[in-house]
Amino acid sequence: MMQAVEIDPRRFCKGGQSWEVRDDVAAFPRLAHEFTQGELFCRVIGVADASGALSFGIEIRGDVTLTCQRCLGELPFTVGIHRMLQLARDETELERLDAEPDCETILAPAKLDLVALVEDEVLLSLPMAAMHAEGECPT
Ligand SMILES: [Zn+2]
Repeated sequence: MMQAVEIDPRRFCKGGQSWEVRDDVAAFPRLAHEFTQGELFCRVIGVADASGALSFGIEIRGDVTLTCQRCLGELPFTVGIHRMLQLARDETELERLDAEPDCETILAPAKLDLVALVEDEVLLSLPMAAMHAEGECPT
């Protein structure tokens, strides 16, 4: 099982660091029960732009298998996440950045677990009820 990868998000972004992992879904503590099989590639890149704004570039992809809620059979699912997450230094900046369209912002915590971060992204991308299309369950 994968261990938490705790970082200081500000230092990670200012230093332009990156982290990546490729592993079986069973290795992710909170994803192991969501998928019956598959492998995920995850990459998080720290970015600091010229104005000092900090953000994460998050990329997660892989082909996994969900369980159909209708027939309990295998349901192939492709994870393809590519997004930026901005880090606000304080509440004021959070409000300002949040007002911008197409932009996800969180208040930068002192410590952040990158494994939990990518797990959150994957969980949010899953369908509410995973199932084959109507009438398409294999008999
Ligand atoms: Zn089905």
